[in-house]
Amino acid sequence: MHEMSLCEGILQVLEENATRQDYRRVKAVRLEIGALAGVELEALRFGFDAVMRGSLADGARLEIIEVPATAWCMQCAQTVLVRQRFDACPQCNSHQLQVTGGEELRIKDLEVE
Ligand SMILES: [Zn+2]
Repeated sequence: MHEMSLCEGILQVLEENATRQDYRRVKAVRLEIGALAGVELEALRFGFDAVMRGSLADGARLEIIEVPATAWCMQCAQTVLVRQRFDACPQCNSHQLQVTGGEELRIKDLEVE
């Protein structure tokens, strides 16, 4: 499952940073996830608890910041909101769109001690 390996990747980052930033426990992880990142949030929350169990982030709170998908429309010459990658422009129906946001998938910040 994609979300499971995603969580393993997060744990790896947490462990690497623990030495560098000198913390022993992670209390909360804030993730920024774009609407186009292809992440199933339910599966992510489930995987997160399972993967963090017994680690330095055991029982850590997972906060998810959802970033909407945006695209630049050449016809309208402005940024519009889209729901998925190959959507037409909601305003003029053009397909000349370039995705500009919503692909984020990153750790925004951590609460540690
Ligand atoms: Zn448009």
